[in-house]
Amino acid sequence: MIYDHTVASSESWAGMRQPMPLPGRVGGVRDQGRRLGRPDREVDGELAGLVEHTGGLRLDPAFKENLAETIERFNGFAESGVDADFGRGQAPIGRAWNGPNREGSPNPTMAPFASEGPCYCVIVVCGMLDTNGGPVTDTGARVLDFDDNPIPGLYGAGNCVASPAGQGYWGPGATIGLGITYGHLAGPNAAAEPEKGFTY
Ligand SMILES: Cc1cc2nc3c(=O)[nH]c(=O)nc-3n(C[C@H](O)[C@H](O)[C@H](O)COP(=O)(O)OP(=O)(O)OC[C@H]3O[C@@H](n4cnc5c(N)ncnc54)[C@H](O)[C@@H]3O)c2cc1C
Repeated sequence: MIYDHTVASSESWAGMRQPMPLPGRVGGVRDQGRRLGRPDREVDGELAGLVEHTGGLRLDPAFKENLAETIERFNGFAESGVDADFGRGQAPIGRAWNGPNREGSPNPTMAPFASEGPCYCVIVVCGMLDTNGGPVTDTGARVLDFDDNPIPGLYGAGNCVASPAGQGYWGPGATIGLGITYGHLAGPNAAAEPEKGFTY
């Protein structure tokens, strides 16, 4: 994620600021908000230091050229307020967590990059938020078989089972909340299972 000095120096938390740190602060993540002289060299330098964790990921040689083109295209969208690539800011949800429009931009989710540096970079990677697939459970956190019957002694909660929220993300806390709730249901139910004897 590349951003300019106006964003970096803004004190505002608006616009779901993370992972961009507040001015003067560097967060716990190693690469948060590095000020860049030459984006291509410096981003690649950072990636070189992380190869152990990334499986050898390095920057594409065309990055510098592509970045210039991408910024130019993005600036055009920001000036007109219409993002022809990703539709930023078209849906109400896209605007809901944004701050006010930046000067000169009709769309609160975009603003043209400053024509001069410095610019900053955060390396963004994937993480697991929630699951839609996986074993289905019932209201007692029992894992169900293909005929929707509970499998004796098998319980599940959290990301290792299909979320009780299905395809929805109900809002902040919906994943941890459901994990805790179903974990809490699973405990007493598992403890109430008849004791099983073992033969060797
Ligand atoms: C960036 C981010 C922000 C989030 N923000 C929110 C939020 O604001 N509110 C919210 O409700 N949810 C949030 N979530 C989602 C929430 O964190 C997860 O849904 C929740 O942590 C899942 O809990 P879990 O116990 O099911 O799985 P995990 O927390 O992933 O626990 C699984 C554990 O199993 C361990 N493990 C894996 N394989 C093995 C193995 N073979 N042997 C032994 N141990 C193993 C892992 O190391 C891990 O400790 C966020 C997630 C992310 C990534």
